[in-house]
Amino acid sequence: MTQNKISSNLLVIGAGIAGISSALEAAETGLNVILIDKEPFIGGNVARFNRYFPKLCPPGCGLEINIRRLRTNPAIKLFTLAEVASVKKNNGKYNVGIKVSPRHVNRLCTACGDCAKVCPEKTANEFNYKMDETTSVNIANESAYPQQYVIDMKTCKGESCNKCVEVCKYNAIELNQTEETIDAEVDSIIVATGWEPYNAENIEVLQFGKHSDIITNVIMERLASPNGPTKGQILRLSSNEKINSVAFVQCAGSRDENYLEYCSSVCCMASIKQAKYIREQHPEAEVHIHYIDIRANGILESFYNEVSKDEKIHFHRGKVAKVFHNPETNKMVVEAEDTLTGNLMQNPVELVVLATGMKPNSLNGLTDEISFDKNGFLNLTNGAITGCGVITEPKEVASVVQEATGAVLTALQTINRN
Ligand SMILES: Cc1cc2nc3c(=O)[nH]c(=O)nc-3n(C[C@H](O)[C@H](O)[C@H](O)COP(=O)(O)OP(=O)(O)OC[C@H]3O[C@@H](n4cnc5c(N)ncnc54)[C@H](O)[C@@H]3O)c2cc1C
Repeated sequence: MTQNKISSNLLVIGAGIAGISSALEAAETGLNVILIDKEPFIGGNVARFNRYFPKLCPPGCGLEINIRRLRTNPAIKLFTLAEVASVKKNNGKYNVGIKVSPRHVNRLCTACGDCAKVCPEKTANEFNYKMDETTSVNIANESAYPQQYVIDMKTCKGESCNKCVEVCKYNAIELNQTEETIDAEVDSIIVATGWEPYNAENIEVLQFGKHSDIITNVIMERLASPNGPTKGQILRLSSNEKINSVAFVQCAGSRDENYLEYCSSVCCMASIKQAKYIREQHPEAEVHIHYIDIRANGILESFYNEVSKDEKIHFHRGKVAKVFHNPETNKMVVEAEDTLTGNLMQNPVELVVLATGMKPNSLNGLTDEISFDKNGFLNLTNGAITGCGVITEPKEVASVVQEATGAVLTALQTINRN
């Protein structure tokens, strides 16, 4: 294990859209910034989307500009595969231990892909929520940043195979790389660790994991993405056939004290956006959205109003009681109350999308100065450690970016006070 020491004004934990935005804003005001992410690539959940509302642009359009600003700003030191191991307060500053896991591919990598072409081992593709496989030496996608492969040592056969080492013209593969520790001294910390999808398997009545035609909203983003497992084709996963009917189950586990007691605020808009993906690809398909109430705040209401004019998108008000597979028709059945008519409805469709919420990635136990509420959202208590993005509360990208700017101002005030 190697150990490095660095000092900086600001540490940003998490390089999703929140962390990237705050690192850039801080660096462009003259601060030195350490930006870390636990994944081999940055961009967080947005990097997995097909397009994002309200403008429906692909994730690249926002991320690429930010990545260019990041690449060309020497004030930002980026570490991927990196997590905070310890935080100690010392004379008004923080000593932070950062653990950097080995990538096994060094910075000489040009992402030419020769290594992946000869790699004989397969591993589940985490970027696509394990819907397909990738090679042990892999890169999340063609625009991942850093443009550097990573090796999954759980499936790589190491030196007994060595094919990637032999084929690499740039001497970029280092099978013997070990973990590194960085001792960072910083004035201020921004927590931007974002969210992970709520585990839909917890909601037994919705049958996620029991049938491949019951998927979640984040899986739908990967299905619709041109670099996803189906190259952007939204299909019935059980048969790879074209779909003619889809139902969205809103608040799948959300606003329910048995699962996630809060509203994730974006799921209604995410489903409305995904209904549009389906209608663009399958002009004949009928789309049903089962909702409790539609939450489309501010400018998002006009997006909702526009999409709801589509006669093939049907809104049904009422909580879904259960989802099941009917083997006779080979359809999925959504059972729900329609509170507008008072009837119980059974809606047969070919694909069900569960609109699950966002569960915060809290960092418990690092220091008494960072605390999280009972749902895992960051309590903002102290100016020296602040937060932005979904870790403070559920929100969409535009609000995340505004909050990131605000967090930098708080960090600057702390630094100027010290
Ligand atoms: C289905 C769905 C669709 C959506 N569609 C849209 C849309 O179209 N438009 C829109 O505006 N919003 C949309 N959203 C909301 C959007 O995803 C969030 O606003 C956005 O992801 C928040 O960014 P973030 O940086 O806070 O979090 P994240 O995107 O989660 O990024 C957090 C980063 O922190 C890293 N991290 C986590 N823990 C650690 C740790 N311990 N150490 C180091 N790094 C860590 C992660 O690897 C990640 O890179 C959607 C949400 C859902 C659920």
